[in-house]
Amino acid sequence: MPTFVYMTRCDGCGQCVDICPSDIMHIDKTLRRAYNIEPNMCWECYSCVKACPHHAIDVRGYADFAPLGHSVRVHRDEEKGTIAWRIKFRNGKKDFDLLAPITTKPWGTCIPQLANEAAPADSMRDTQLLYNEPKYVAMNDNALMTLESNGLEIKEGVYY
Ligand code: SF4
Ligand code: SF4
Repeated sequence: MPTFVYMTRCDGCGQCVDICPSDIMHIDKTLRRAYNIEPNMCWECYSCVKACPHHAIDVRGYADFAPLGHSVRVHRDEEKGTIAWRIKFRNGKKDFDLLAPITTKPWGTCIPQLANEAAPADSMRDTQLLYNEPKYVAMNDNALMTLESNGLEIKEGVYY
């Protein structure tokens, strides 16, 4: 479920830009509002959704679990320490909240000094838990795929 931004709620603070691991949340130069420049490259991690202080980012539901006319809204409540995902179906009757706690760790403290930690060995990468990932992202050859190696170019981005 890729994300999109409600322009009227966004104030261009850039928190979604900072946190997006796929670097696809950008600030429009003219409007000074954020938008997802490549929804098809979205990891669907929802870090941006949870980080947005104005609840300006929403997600498009896939048709298999949220058919025509549905809506998916995300609401972060810092006072209660929860994130609620509200799924509402088009008949208005099936409507439920998925409630999850939010982390209380300060920004950047989850894995401090990560760069100083030893890199995972091949045996750790060659695990059923990762299944085909090392092979398909070429981690084992130390040759991570890039836009260039995939014959792609980065579009002109909008940075702040
Ligand atoms: S869901 Fe994750 S990958 Fe997608 S735009 Fe938000 S932060 Fe980036
Ligand atoms: S975090 Fe929210 S308010 Fe801030 S730029 Fe992103 S969408 Fe806009």
